[in-house]
Parts: sequence; structure tokens; C-alpha cells
Amino acid sequence: MARAIFKAFWVAVASAASSVLLVMMILSFFGDSIGGLGLLMCIACPLVIAWPASAYMFWQNDRLQAAHRDLSRAHAQLAAAHRRLAEKARHDDMTGMLNRESFFGVLERSRRKTDSGALLIIDADHFKSINDRFGHLAGDEALLQIAGALRGGVRAGDVLGRIGGEEFGAFLVGANEHEAARVAERIRQQVEMIRFRVEGDRIVPLTVSIGGTICEPGATVSELMRSADRRLYEAKNRGRNLVIFGSDKRDTEAA
Ligand code: GH3
Ligand code: MG
Ligand code: MG
Repeated sequence: MARAIFKAFWVAVASAASSVLLVMMILSFFGDSIGGLGLLMCIACPLVIAWPASAYMFWQNDRLQAAHRDLSRAHAQLAAAHRRLAEKARHDDMTGMLNRESFFGVLERSRRKTDSGALLIIDADHFKSINDRFGHLAGDEALLQIAGALRGGVRAGDVLGRIGGEEFGAFLVGANEHEAARVAERIRQQVEMIRFRVEGDRIVPLTVSIGGTICEPGATVSELMRSADRRLYEAKNRGRNLVIFGSDKRDTEAA
């Protein structure tokens, strides 16, 4: 407000000076000169009119600029909140891993670029019985520990997602079959090493079965999923706590 009054003062002074100059020029054109009262009016009128009018205008302008700044700040905050929300929507609340949709999104994009790598599907063994025996909360805790073991088992840059209740996916970027089988086995061992305590000191074993497949060029995400799923099913049938790795394409060629 003070700034607006100050700026308006100088506008009023300039208006008064211009008014005096203009009237003097017009009167001298008609061969007349400005009198004392005329001079007073030439100064007073612009001061009385221009000062409040421009003070009001500058004040409104300042308010408009402040409102504009507030709006820009609110816009930036909204954009940040939107980014945070979008990031949160991509992740599973419980484990913090990518959710199913985002995991397959990553896989889909990598397929379009025909990135090499391997896909693992990791499923907790006999998980229903953990819930049945120790309750759902203990089950949740077991899942968190399994998720932690998965994180410890993969390499930096690999992508992990929770693709079902007690089922996880791992996309091992650029891994060949040998590396992928090694990472899968490390994951299996990490889970097996968890010392999951329930009801005081009782330790309950946790294990996972893993089906894996190499990402052959041209294979779609659903073909990869089917291939890894088939191996997971085999691992379950062969007694669980097992890694089975292979490639449908190679099996077809061998047949
Ligand atoms: P399998 O070795 O054949 O995979 O047996 P399973 O018991 O693990 O498989 P099943 O599909 O029969 O049961 C999966 C169980 O996982 C049932 C479901 O209640 C539990 N589960 C899925 N998501 C969650 C979760 O977020 N928290 C808890 N506590 N349990 C979950
Ligand atoms: Mg299971
Ligand atoms: Mg399952």
C-alpha cells in the first residue's frame, strides 16, 4: 500500500507539472498568461484527481501481482502433489514395490525396445497356511520379509513388482540365462534364510518357488508370463522351494 501511495504521489506531481505547462502554452498561444488562481487550480486539480486515482490503480495492481504469485505457488504445489500421487499409484502400498499394472507396463516398454533380460515369477509357498495358523497380520509381516529378501536377491537396476497377493515378478534387465538362474537361486536362498518369528520365539520357515524364462527376441509379455508361469507350476509340483528356469522357444526347437 505504501509503495502504491508513493508511486501515485510522483504521478500526481508529474500530472500537476504537465497541467501547468499545458495551460501556460495554450494561454500564451492566445496572448494571455496564467494568473495566481489559475496556477493554483492547475496544480490542485491534478493533485486531487490523479493522486487517489493512481494510488487506487497501483494498489489494485500490487494486489493482482500478489494474487498471481499465490496462484503460481499453488499451481507448483498442485503439480508436486500430482507427481507424488502418480508415483504412489504406481506402487503397492504394502511392499513399496511396483504394483501389477506398473510392473507389466515396464515389461511392455522393454519388450517394445526388445531389451534382453529374464522374467521370474516368485510365489510364496503354502502361504495360506501361514495366515490360517498365525493370522493375517503375521501373514502380512511374512510377506514384508519375503519382499525384503527379494530386494536383497536381485541386482541393482532389476525391476521388482508385486503382481498378486503372495506373488512377485522380477525383470532382470539384460540378464542371460546363466545370470538369471543365479539371481533366482540367490532369491530362493535369501527367503529360505529368513528367520520368521511368530508367537514369541517360534521360528516358521518361509520359502518361495520360482519360475523363470529368458526374454527371447519377439516374445510378447503374455508369452513370457505363460512361459515363466509354466515353470513356476512345475516348481510347485516338484515339491516347492525350487527354481526352474527355461525358455519355451528353446524347448520347441529341441522337440
Ligand atoms: P502354494 O504353495 O501352492 O502357492 O500355496 P499358497 O497357500 O501360497 O497358495 P494359495 O493361492 O492357496 O493361497 C495364497 C494365500 O495368500 C491366500 C491369501 O489369503 C494369502 N494372501 C494373499 N495376499 C495376502 C496379503 O496381502 N496378506 C496376507 N496376510 N495374506 C495374503
Ligand atoms: Mg503361494
Ligand atoms: Mg499364488
